Amino acid sequence: MKRDEKNQIYTTGFGAPVDNDQNSKTAGNPGPILIQDTHLLEKLGHFNRERIPERVVHAKGAGAHGYFEVTDDVTKYTKAKFLSEIDKRTDVFVRFSTVGGEKGSADAERDPRGFAVKFYTEEGNYDMTGNNTPVFFIRDPLKFSDFIHTQKRHPGTNLKNADMFWDFLSLTPESVHQVTILFSDRGTPKTYRNMNGYSSHTFKWYNKDGAYYWVQYHFKTEQGIQNLTRGESSELKGKDPDHATRDLYEAIERGDYPSWRLEIQIMTPEQANEYRFDPFDITKVWFHADFPPITIGRMVLNRNPGNYFAEVEQAAFSPANFVPGIAASPDKMLQGRLFAYHDAHLHRLGPNYQLLPINRPKAAEVNYYQRDGLMALGDNNGDNPNYYPNSFGGPEPAPDAAEPSFEVSGQAARQPYIHPNDDFFQAGELYRRVMTDEDRTHLIGNITSHLCNAQKRIQLRQAAVFYKADVEYGRRVAEGLELDVKEVENLARMSQDERTQATNQN
Ligand code: NDP
Repeated sequence: MKRDEKNQIYTTGFGAPVDNDQNSKTAGNPGPILIQDTHLLEKLGHFNRERIPERVVHAKGAGAHGYFEVTDDVTKYTKAKFLSEIDKRTDVFVRFSTVGGEKGSADAERDPRGFAVKFYTEEGNYDMTGNNTPVFFIRDPLKFSDFIHTQKRHPGTNLKNADMFWDFLSLTPESVHQVTILFSDRGTPKTYRNMNGYSSHTFKWYNKDGAYYWVQYHFKTEQGIQNLTRGESSELKGKDPDHATRDLYEAIERGDYPSWRLEIQIMTPEQANEYRFDPFDITKVWFHADFPPITIGRMVLNRNPGNYFAEVEQAAFSPANFVPGIAASPDKMLQGRLFAYHDAHLHRLGPNYQLLPINRPKAAEVNYYQRDGLMALGDNNGDNPNYYPNSFGGPEPAPDAAEPSFEVSGQAARQPYIHPNDDFFQAGELYRRVMTDEDRTHLIGNITSHLCNAQKRIQLRQAAVFYKADVEYGRRVAEGLELDVKEVENLARMSQDERTQATNQN
């Protein structure tokens, strides 16, 4: 709590002096309250409207200000000005979050963590709305609301429900890679400072000559990866539900500024055509051995927000906020998010949310013909022209800012990814090749202690999905749930449709 300025007069929201803030105005004593106590009416009315709609996902979060610094020359890949020179610094605001829980939920929940970065560049704000996982549960945005419903509360009981959770996942085997990460101890990072951030999506970078590349971002924590075990996270949820919010704030207050190294993976269009995985499928990574990460920058968070609501709750990130030199890829989840984030903010904050101080460009001017709408803060562009073209010297488009044209072809239809995708291989590689024995034991325990709450037919189906990723993985889950391993093996040999039918007959 800060304020220590003396002799200030308390006023209404309209600046008139308040004579008394302890006793409502009554007719007689005690007497009924008079409607002419306009100060009381203003207070009650404002209080009723203090909450804005909670984010439907990523509701619980913490944020901080800082900077991003370029450490390597990437001008052959992108013409983005904020990346144009080594040592160049750009202000950033970062918001970390959990995904499924409500605004009051515990920071230690098993959940992916949001990792959203707003770069205040001289060419406008550039937002990277990533997660602490390099992949996602689904690869088509048509499935997103269904998926999220299953991670939230049951429509009847208002309780979290293991049947919903695992039913959807077991019917959507493309999720198994992300599920394997989520149920490893990386699903419960120790703090927001001890986790990586990944773009997960592929983006297009193009240079001043119009040549383009596909790019994925990895923000690697310089604090080191640290995770909570299942036992530690359960305990912490009760002891300090805000532990990660507190940790971030306190670290920055004591000058222990968290930092991340930005690595990118780069793929040429020719390599993308030939890669063994679909490079735009968000349920897959690009293997490091195929596309070695290159370090290009560093991000440091060194200032806490002064006001949580103004800076964190009202912060609005959108993957559609690009700058020249960076553009979208055909990743369908990204394409869906290009619409959904902006639309969510229109609902949550109103049509002029970009005018709020945290969302306003800091290093670029805003010159456009949009006007009016709820909460048109500022002078609403005075008497300047509000249409284009005009003969009064209004802002003109800059053709140089165009993304180079690119070819598209094919049939308009609802169609799956073209490459013959394998939903299981990369999850298996994580289990077999990356995890230690201890990681695998924790993974199996984390899964079985949650999946045991679902119906047996769902347990069988999900165990078969794990089995398809890796035989030992599936067997250990089956054994941990005391399922018939032979039955799981049989189910794993079936097609997804046959498996669904077989388990639904149980
Ligand atoms: P490598 O074998 O070269 O490296 C393994 C990666 O996995 C490291 O980046 C490591 O992160 C990360 N990792 C370690 N434990 C876990 C965990 N429990 N959950 C998620 N990630 C973890 O990677 P490959 O490229 O050969 O890919 C092998 C597998 O590694 C993939 O199938 C994928 O599951 C996982 N992975 C791959 C990434 C990629 O972009 N290629 C990124 C992250 C994970 P750190 O360096 O921070 O320890």
